[in-house]
Amino acid sequence: MASAIALALTFGMFFLGSRVQFGKESISEETQSQFIAEVVLKLNQIRAAQGVADAAADPEIQAWLESELPTFTEEGVVRIEPLLEALPEAFQNVTNAAARTITAKRLEDLQTQIEFWADGYLPDTRLVATRLYRADRGRIGCALVAAKRVPKFDLARLNDGATEFYNECKHCGEPHLGSLSKVHLALAVSCPHCGEAYDLLAADMFGRYHRAHDYLEGMSPPPGVGSGAESRFDEMMAIWKKAVESCRYAVDLGGSNGEKDTWQRPSETYSFRNGDCEDSSLMLADWLIARGFDARVAIGQALAQGGHAWVVVRLHDKQYLLETTMNEVPQMPPEPVVAKGRYQPQFLFDRRNLYFPSGPRRDVIDYFSPSGWKPLTYERQAWEVPSYARGFLDEEF
Ligand SMILES: [Zn+2]
Repeated sequence: MASAIALALTFGMFFLGSRVQFGKESISEETQSQFIAEVVLKLNQIRAAQGVADAAADPEIQAWLESELPTFTEEGVVRIEPLLEALPEAFQNVTNAAARTITAKRLEDLQTQIEFWADGYLPDTRLVATRLYRADRGRIGCALVAAKRVPKFDLARLNDGATEFYNECKHCGEPHLGSLSKVHLALAVSCPHCGEAYDLLAADMFGRYHRAHDYLEGMSPPPGVGSGAESRFDEMMAIWKKAVESCRYAVDLGGSNGEKDTWQRPSETYSFRNGDCEDSSLMLADWLIARGFDARVAIGQALAQGGHAWVVVRLHDKQYLLETTMNEVPQMPPEPVVAKGRYQPQFLFDRRNLYFPSGPRRDVIDYFSPSGWKPLTYERQAWEVPSYARGFLDEEF
């Protein structure tokens, strides 16, 4: 897109054969800054007429253009393609960049030509930088760069409706522009450089996104549940049983493929007494963690359900896979080694971390292996809105 705009019009044609010399003296900085102001003014007159928001000079891109332009100029000709390629390397949050050069025999003619350029100037491209230079055949030229800068990824901006972001990968550290992609049950943010997902978000009932682990809000199981148990295993079983009994399985209105799947906080699920797989898994994991168990929520694929969520617990030297969508809990939960063909986790999380697979995603038999799961730590974000259920649950919270 950008280079198509850059090459779409060839203004040089207008003045072909002109022999008028502009002179060899350098272009004064005063002329340069005056020219920038005039370009911005001219563009905004055109934009105003088109009902498009104002553009502004970008001081950083401007400084870059001033220092780099000579490296892209050979005998009075600016090579636009390498300039456009270098721009995103210098500014990782720049997108929709367009660049072109215009030459004329006189400065006044150059200013007139800006109007032609403005026709190809993208409406959401609001930053501009320009630099005058000595063109070939005694002409004066200006290099023009138009661009847009996208904000650093932020949940508040996402919830305000922004769709384009600049972010840095938590695995390889590479900055990138990106959008979010829906995986079943959640939104994963992945890196185009290393190909790995590094963030996991999910929408609440009001459509506002939160990081997956913030849904583990810190709820304890109802008082008395499992407290008289003879062993930690029995306590785990009692909490599991209570969670299953307290949440009638209800498919999300968005459908089972998770396209519009929303997540409930544990206190909400307990208050409603229903939810789907991730809602009951969040509640169970939160309860177990509150009682000191090493529990994680797993998001992935299950043979029977497709996109699915479940809970894994590490107790002594064993791991247990706790399913929450059944009517009754079995006597003995399966260990991952037994369930591996039916459950394929893609992401895990507890209250502290999100965990991304660093090994093969299939046939996972260890949900706690430090070599198989890479923890990524994000600052926990407090809920701005109180739980929908708070108030109902004061005595139990
Ligand atoms: Zn990466």
